[in-house]
Amino acid sequence: MAAIAFDNTYARELPGLYVPWQPAAVAAPRLLYFNDALAAELGLDAAALRGPDGAAIFAGNALPAGAEPIAQAYAGHQFGGFSPQLGDGRALLVGEVLDRHGARRDIAFKGSGRTPFSRGGDGKAAVGPMLREVLIGEAMHALGIQTTRALAVAATGEPVYRERTLPGAVLTRVAASHLRVGTFEYFAARREFDRLRQLADYAIARHDPALIGTPERYIGLLRAVARRQAALVAQWMNVGFIHGVMNTDNMTISGETIDYGPCAFVEAYDPAAVFSSIDHGGRYAFGNQARIARWNIARFAEALLPLLAGDIDDAAAVERAAAPAMEIIEAFVVWHEAALRAGQRAKLGLADATPDDEALALAQDWLALLYAQQADFTLAWRRLADAATGDEAPLRDLFADPAPLAAWLARWRPALRPGAAALMRRASPWLIARNHRVEEALAAASDDADLGPFERLLAALRRPYDETPEHAAYAEPAPAAVTAAYRTFCGT
Ligand code: AMP
Ligand code: MG
Repeated sequence: MAAIAFDNTYARELPGLYVPWQPAAVAAPRLLYFNDALAAELGLDAAALRGPDGAAIFAGNALPAGAEPIAQAYAGHQFGGFSPQLGDGRALLVGEVLDRHGARRDIAFKGSGRTPFSRGGDGKAAVGPMLREVLIGEAMHALGIQTTRALAVAATGEPVYRERTLPGAVLTRVAASHLRVGTFEYFAARREFDRLRQLADYAIARHDPALIGTPERYIGLLRAVARRQAALVAQWMNVGFIHGVMNTDNMTISGETIDYGPCAFVEAYDPAAVFSSIDHGGRYAFGNQARIARWNIARFAEALLPLLAGDIDDAAAVERAAAPAMEIIEAFVVWHEAALRAGQRAKLGLADATPDDEALALAQDWLALLYAQQADFTLAWRRLADAATGDEAPLRDLFADPAPLAAWLARWRPALRPGAAALMRRASPWLIARNHRVEEALAAASDDADLGPFERLLAALRRPYDETPEHAAYAEPAPAAVTAAYRTFCGT
């Protein structure tokens, strides 16, 4: 049996914050995907884990020694409404390992069967959505965006009943931790303040060790999480990523992107773009993500308030504690804008001497132009780098009316830095996980058990910044009618 050097601090230090629980055994484990690069990063024995042992391990049938699977408790605001008890309804934290760099990483299952938090759910997951986590997580990683990643996907050989009968699978997910805003909300709402404090001290030790033992550590934690999320969402905005279900249970303390359910990439630029089948109000629309992240940080601040105030029933203490928390919620906007604008400066290839107000006007007018002419977000940014070298034709092809583009280019050109194109090509990917390509790959894997399209797409997504002729088909936008009809789903 392959060994994994587990060291399980959550299970050891936080009794009462989880339920020990075993994964369900499945009928016929088969490894569909194994992430060699990530395994190497974690110091795992890839050769051993790729074999039959790996199928049994990653389906949940045979856990390596040292695993202590637990279902974590958490709550969450879902579409604005508070659900006091969510928790790992189909997931288990299997254990933690220290990676090659000494960083602690969670190894968790998703789709490993019912738990005490399952409510009405079956605890299961299907092949398509779990391979989707692989594709989008690896795409985000290759784009340089903080993310949870898939280590393995094992088919279970069992059916999963959704609108259709689907083949079942278990995902093994690696994360800096699975602490969420909703984890804090769970204990705050139950007024279990000792546990809330233990949780906060644990989060600080794990993610913000510079704050350990300092008197200002809880407000420091709020600030650190707000900063990470402000930067993360800026990165999303600059590659056109739409998370799709930014509930507080899907917002990490670590600053990693988590839960690739109804996510999508924007095609023709539109701040109102929303693909989730249940997001009728556009709460989680592309252009609304910073607002929502800030709203979630406000919920995090509320959950921390008992610790910030010392005594939640002392009105004066609460008022004193709320003021610096409010400042952080306000500062979120500033931090996000700064990260967004810095990213846009790189994407625009601007000289350092270009004043911020000019950079802002150029960025806003550029996006307005993309919106007005429904230009493809990814290709337009990318071809702007060609325009920086004087080759404007490929960019012009994306615009129905070339006149406003020409006027904008005339304003932009004098603001460019020397040799801008190379920098711009590192800031704007050529290839993103196009929705229609993702669906095509998942349909082949799920319906026909053909992993070829999935593997080819994954290989392409690992090189998003290289214009590789053999990947050209993946860089093509979807037909507009396909994007107009595209729907994504939660809880799949
Ligand atoms: P998600 O939409 O994956 O972020 O999940 C939200 C909540 O629903 C979490 O508490 C999940 O554990 C739970 N959940 C989602 N799908 C299932 C399922 N098939 N069985 C049990 N719980 C589920
Ligand atoms: Mg979730």
